Amino acid sequence: EVYLDYNATAPLRHEALEAMLDALRSVGNASSVHAAGRDAASRVELARQQLARLLGCAPGELIFTSGATEANNLALRAGYSSGGILATTAVEHPAILEAARAITADGPGTLVELPVDRDGAVELAPLEAACGQGKVAIVSAMLANNETGVLTDLEPIIKLAHEAGALVHTDATQYVGRLPVDLSELDVDLVSLSAHKFGGPQGVGALFVRRGASVPHRPLLIGGGQERGWRAGTLNVPGIAGLGAAAEAARIHLHNESTRVTALRGVLEEGLTSRLPDCHINGVRSPRLPGVTSVTLAGLPADALLAAMPEIAASDGSACASGAPTPSHVLLAMGLSRPDADSTLRFSLGYATIEHDVERAIEATVRAVGEVRTAMTATSE
Ligand code: PLP
Repeated sequence: EVYLDYNATAPLRHEALEAMLDALRSVGNASSVHAAGRDAASRVELARQQLARLLGCAPGELIFTSGATEANNLALRAGYSSGGILATTAVEHPAILEAARAITADGPGTLVELPVDRDGAVELAPLEAACGQGKVAIVSAMLANNETGVLTDLEPIIKLAHEAGALVHTDATQYVGRLPVDLSELDVDLVSLSAHKFGGPQGVGALFVRRGASVPHRPLLIGGGQERGWRAGTLNVPGIAGLGAAAEAARIHLHNESTRVTALRGVLEEGLTSRLPDCHINGVRSPRLPGVTSVTLAGLPADALLAAMPEIAASDGSACASGAPTPSHVLLAMGLSRPDADSTLRFSLGYATIEHDVERAIEATVRAVGEVRTAMTATSE
């Protein structure tokens, strides 16, 4: 099988596997003071440093979590703890959108969902209006979209939010390890990420909380006070060690990988658009992540296309969440019709993708389009 679903999850990097095996073979609770405990704690602190180096922040600004979903929930709950307006974008992952809806539904505040244009760029006017209207508590905008790869221009959002006294959170889950992040330059207060998107294990991630930012302390898990009281519970030492090793490998190879993957994505898109002239690449006019292609093949249901190309692991436009057959809210927000949203495939390439994978994906897609079209013509006759 050709694996082109890096936005769902990336294969584990061998550096991460080694670090995890090593941690799994040793005993020790990172909170214990004996040698075994100190050994576990040192693995955790190494990982914190490795991740901090990838992000350009201080190790002490990082809280390990079970993934980006938890980090997002933690960020929004903390940022929104005194009510007001929670502003986010219409194209966020459900781990922001659904969490934001739930959090604001509980309280007296308001949720503002910023629309995007056809290219996936966030429209700022409603944020300006919200900032002029009342107390914006927190603005959350993703750095890169998981379905289309479209990047958000955060600078104007940060400026508006900070002028209004609001905190800024970014869900950087798809961005970290794929394009350079420097949190000493990017003036956000909170950042979420998940290890498995950059070659670490599933079920571990982190939340960055900027030192000195006035983020209320609102843990979701209360107990033994680990992670400076932000996240109680015995630390997942093997997972965290894997996250750290993956962060280090991603940092070392970032430049080469992003250049190489961007070129491969170019080959894929050139192959698809030249052989399937009716196809449309979503977000193609926007800056995007290196490896993501969201392609609409009008009139051809994505599930039928994927079934006709079993040798390729790709996803339909809305994958990542639950597998439920709901249309992609991201593509609808970008102005696609429901049938077009349901006729969209997502290929996401990554560090281990080779040109042969891309060539096979082009062949398989062209063949699947032919087969599905023939089958549909036969049934409509
Ligand atoms: N945010 C974005 C943009 C994602 O793509 C994902 C994963 O699909 C998440 C959050 C959730 O990550 P996790 O499931 O690892 O918690």
